[in-house]
Amino acid sequence: MPKLTAGVVKFQREVYPDRRAMFETLTQGQKPEALFITCSDSRVDPTMVTQTEPGELFICRNAGNIVPPHTTHTGAMTAAIEYAIGALKVPHIVVCGHSQCGAMTGALNPDSLADLPHTHEWLDYARAAVQIVQTRDRELSQEEKLKRLIEENVILQLTHLRSHPYVAQALAEGTVTLRGWVYDIGTGGMHALDESRRAFVPVDELYSDLPDAQPDNLTTSMAKAVRDAAAGPVGPGGGCCTNTGPGQEVT
Ligand SMILES: [Zn+2]
Repeated sequence: MPKLTAGVVKFQREVYPDRRAMFETLTQGQKPEALFITCSDSRVDPTMVTQTEPGELFICRNAGNIVPPHTTHTGAMTAAIEYAIGALKVPHIVVCGHSQCGAMTGALNPDSLADLPHTHEWLDYARAAVQIVQTRDRELSQEEKLKRLIEENVILQLTHLRSHPYVAQALAEGTVTLRGWVYDIGTGGMHALDESRRAFVPVDELYSDLPDAQPDNLTTSMAKAVRDAAAGPVGPGGGCCTNTGPGQEVT
């Protein structure tokens, strides 16, 4: 039996019975605390690294954690953002890039995408970030350029987010916060964008100084979860329903 299928059986027999009440509560609706936009990369597990439960994150994933700027053309990301903010009223949006990102590697080397025309076209949404890095950081190594691009791409996609009408409205009303994060696959580290310095710093360092950093604040609890995940074994967050882990194939 493929691991994916075996995981579903294990979930039904061992995980679900212990948490039946939570799942039954979820049938009443959802009130996620964040729209979490990240890469499709199988090594990134949003619920594991934030130690969140079903119902707490409204997750959108694509190659390169891209947010196309708003246009009159309807796309999947546009509809998901509209629903998350316009209907679900999520109070936080996180754009989360990650280390060793294949999409950003491709964006930095577009010739390598010659046989992937849709990927090539999709990653054009990151081109402004690529051009910043190729100009500003031209003396750096390819490895360091990739690191800078992953960060610049998060900044660029946050800019694109602000062009979506419901996001713009929520920002004007002060009912939503935007966060830019970069997750390190190898170390479990999470860095967050400090807009005042235009630099990425450890989440606990950045959010500890914020006036809204109350114990029940999502960004604080997520920051704590990220710190705890880096320090020790993870809890029951990731791989809940298929019992798969980050990077494992699900075919
Ligand atoms: Zn990626």
